[in-house]
Amino acid sequence: MKHDPAAYAAADMAHVWHHLVQHQALAGKGPMIVVEGEGLKLRDINGKEYLDATSGGVWCVNVGYGRERIAKAVYEQLRAMPYYAATAGNIPYIEFARKLVSHMPGLSRVYLSNSGSEANEKAYKMIRALAHISGNTTKKKILFRARDYHGTTLGALSSTGQAERKEWFGPFVPGFVEFPHACCYRCAFGKTYPGCDLDCVKAVDRIIREEGPETVGGLIVEPITAGGGVIPPVAEYYTELAAVCRNHGVLLIMDEVVCGMGRTGTMLGYQHYGVTPDIVTMAKGVASAYMPISVTVTTEDLFTSFLHDPGDKLAYFRDISTYGGCAAGCSAALENMAIIEEENLLDNVRAMGDYLLAGLKELGKLPYVGDVRGKGLLCGVELVEDKASRKPLPEGKVIQVVGEMAANGVLVGRTNRSLPGHNNIINIAPAYVVTRDDIDVILRALRAAMTKVLG
Ligand code: PLP
Repeated sequence: MKHDPAAYAAADMAHVWHHLVQHQALAGKGPMIVVEGEGLKLRDINGKEYLDATSGGVWCVNVGYGRERIAKAVYEQLRAMPYYAATAGNIPYIEFARKLVSHMPGLSRVYLSNSGSEANEKAYKMIRALAHISGNTTKKKILFRARDYHGTTLGALSSTGQAERKEWFGPFVPGFVEFPHACCYRCAFGKTYPGCDLDCVKAVDRIIREEGPETVGGLIVEPITAGGGVIPPVAEYYTELAAVCRNHGVLLIMDEVVCGMGRTGTMLGYQHYGVTPDIVTMAKGVASAYMPISVTVTTEDLFTSFLHDPGDKLAYFRDISTYGGCAAGCSAALENMAIIEEENLLDNVRAMGDYLLAGLKELGKLPYVGDVRGKGLLCGVELVEDKASRKPLPEGKVIQVVGEMAANGVLVGRTNRSLPGHNNIINIAPAYVVTRDDIDVILRALRAAMTKVLG
């Protein structure tokens, strides 16, 4: 089979079950089979080259492909000590935890797992356990926001505000309550910022009161909704939201699975907004997906709550993820952070993010571009049938635009069966090493594809 693309394609079609793909769509053309990459360049098994403006499909390979120093660090750690459960410490874990929290004032404890979903599950379990430790055993509900995604496992999916991702997978875990999204372009209250008085935050206060503050333990948000349509809330949204949480003794969880580790131009997405969460979860960008690793980072206060012994039960966090003890994940994460720092990549994220957003806003003059949103290198283009009605372009058309770009060698993402009737956003999130020339290529390809498909 070696070096025989057709044989690999046939074996893929025979045995591989792809994520998020309707396999009927592969009939005739076969799957894309990727073999190597360097920077933003990705090559498939047929030698076709792509400029990857998705960072690995789902906002992951932030420092770009082909980073030998990460591969070497992983190799060396695997030789020295591949694994011992995280019941023990290991050198890269300790170094990584210390380095990570140095970027997160107010937080100090790092709990390891392997995926974004798991990191969020840990946060929920901490809050549920805390309810017992603090003596208020009902304070367990978690609020989540419409359009946000928090993962694939049933707890994380139960707390996800995307109906199409949830369809067929119920019944869901009890104890999760949805509140309205913060997308101004489609304001849930039909208002216009700044005259809206932040009704979207007021709704949270109302819901907590209705549920009973004594039953609500936490609230989870993506700092900038990613897969649900790239939605950066307005500047004062999070200070207001954090105040509501504080008033009701509700812990604020920031799901930084996409934004974390620099994607939006600050190390953490919430750092744009002047708030300090109680719990932060991160995954994809932690090691730029060179290794699977995720973290749940907490305040010292939360951690020390687990040192007390409420009666006859020991109050430690009775939880483990076996592979959270894979030391080489932390080695990869350390190298990833070193690359970001040494190459001043956050400066590039901010500069290139501004350049990309300005270019997309130019495209905003086209009749079917309804809205352009983003921060740093996390950008979205919302396509509509016409600007006046804002009627979302059907998902099929968006798929055609993205497919046309891929055929021309540029990979971009899109909302994928997430929100009924609103899978009309194209996502652009290249690696942090992106240049102006790369962005020009992306913008030209997007304009050409939209013109061809939409006229
Ligand atoms: N949280 C957010 C914001 C995500 O975008 C994702 C995945 O896309 C997750 C959580 C779940 O992460 P994972 O797929 O690693 O479980």
